[in-house]
Amino acid sequence: AAAIVWFRNDLRLDDNPALEAALDAGHDIIPVYVHDPDGEGNAAAGAASNAWLARSLVALDASLRERGNWLRLFVGHAGPTLAGVAAAAGATSVFWNRRYEPDVEARDAAIKRALREDGLEVESFNGSTLFEPWALKTAAGGPYRVFTPFYRSAMARWSPSACGDAPPRIPPWESGPAGVLIDQLRLVPATGWDRSFWAHWTPGEAGARAALDSFVEGALHAYAQDRDRPDRTGTSRLSPHLHFGEVAVWRVVDAVESERGRVGDAHIDAYRRQLVWRDFATQLLHHFPHTAERDLDPRFERFEWTRARRHALERWRRGRTGVPIIDAGMRELWETGWMHGRVRMIVASYLCKHMRVHWRTGAAWFRETLLDADLANNTMGWQWVAGTGADAAPYFRVFNPVTQGVRFDPRGDYVARWLPELAALPVPLRHAPWRDPTQLVRVAPGYPSTPLVDLAEGRDAALLAYRRMNDAR
Ligand code: FAD
Repeated sequence: AAAIVWFRNDLRLDDNPALEAALDAGHDIIPVYVHDPDGEGNAAAGAASNAWLARSLVALDASLRERGNWLRLFVGHAGPTLAGVAAAAGATSVFWNRRYEPDVEARDAAIKRALREDGLEVESFNGSTLFEPWALKTAAGGPYRVFTPFYRSAMARWSPSACGDAPPRIPPWESGPAGVLIDQLRLVPATGWDRSFWAHWTPGEAGARAALDSFVEGALHAYAQDRDRPDRTGTSRLSPHLHFGEVAVWRVVDAVESERGRVGDAHIDAYRRQLVWRDFATQLLHHFPHTAERDLDPRFERFEWTRARRHALERWRRGRTGVPIIDAGMRELWETGWMHGRVRMIVASYLCKHMRVHWRTGAAWFRETLLDADLANNTMGWQWVAGTGADAAPYFRVFNPVTQGVRFDPRGDYVARWLPELAALPVPLRHAPWRDPTQLVRVAPGYPSTPLVDLAEGRDAALLAYRRMNDAR
């Protein structure tokens, strides 16, 4: 008999529980991907992630072909598409790995019901997180809103292990519709904006493995110190691979844990902790589905955000605020589809606090431009920085981008890399070029001579707005 394996954000063959279950049951396999952005609601991919997706699907198809099979692509509503493929091919079962974004969960629950009513066997699995989002509960039986107890609970039940490599042959099932060509999914930006990304990334399972291997051999050895340093390759850069499920998170854990003894515990534990943050974000969004759009802390409904002028927002987006660490981050994002995590916090803080723009606006830009755009991680990241989230940085802790820059990019190498026009400035000026306007104009006449929002004024205005919100109780 034939089973459809519906690929989604699990674009890999190894450690793939849905595929493994279908093979274990002795089925011939119909691998399917359905491009259904409407059905995915607020979890639908943005422009940069779509460009990644296109390449990842091509890579998955190539790996399937090496194993005697191929990927069938479709465009349309996932439910009717799957039902149609199953009927035309005579498949008896449909298997997939779960996604946990609320809109997708609702769609998938409806699809599962409908397919079962059609008489199909339908099974779904956890292919993406260390724990199911409902597995870890507080003593009171509810979801966690604070990370540290969530982390402790994760550690107490820690037993991840990879499920194994795909077999050399994945038996195909010939009948049923062949699907469409990848170009018909229209995933690649017509402007060619994504072309500069691919010097930095290799989407697909093999690319994910290579990134994991090079992290384990390299940056892992100093992760606890270097993870905050945008001027170094201090992190794993696995985020787009993990978002698209090109490597199982358990395999990442195994690879890192197997270095214990050779690599200091501090580095391994620090990395493991970040992976648990990822689970925490998934758990938060699952239990507080409104937070993708609204503040988790309801007091902020009263906060006086400003309506950013288009041109001010555009200066933030394009890296022309006049604050180098922010502009460097925004240009790194535009050119590579990724931004260092520490810098994400700094640019987000400037937008939400100095510019007092609602975090939703920033989150929307990240969603369009990040290759790793992930509704759960992005929502938690923005609400954390904005101070509106669970276990968030308190609103009154306003990042000073100059201090942050000096601390985490001490020689200004990161700034010089992404803003080459500032590379000729002496190091102390690289993070605050407005302090010597004459030199700035001489070296980089096109760079803004003053910050878009003055750092002290922006900070004071933000704190005042925060006090007003609290006084309005
Ligand atoms: P590493 O340090 O190597 O971490 C390994 C993995 O752990 C990451 O790939 C990621 O899957 C996970 N992880 C690390 N930090 C976090 C975190 N704070 N929250 C959740 N998971 C984490 N991450 C995304 O994957 N997608 C997003 O859309 C996203 N948006 C963000 C927005 C803001 C405003 C902020 C402050 C953070 C955001 N993050 C997001 C989290 C984090 O910045 C990135 O996951 C990380 O920088 C990716 O780089 P890396 O893979 O080298 O990280």
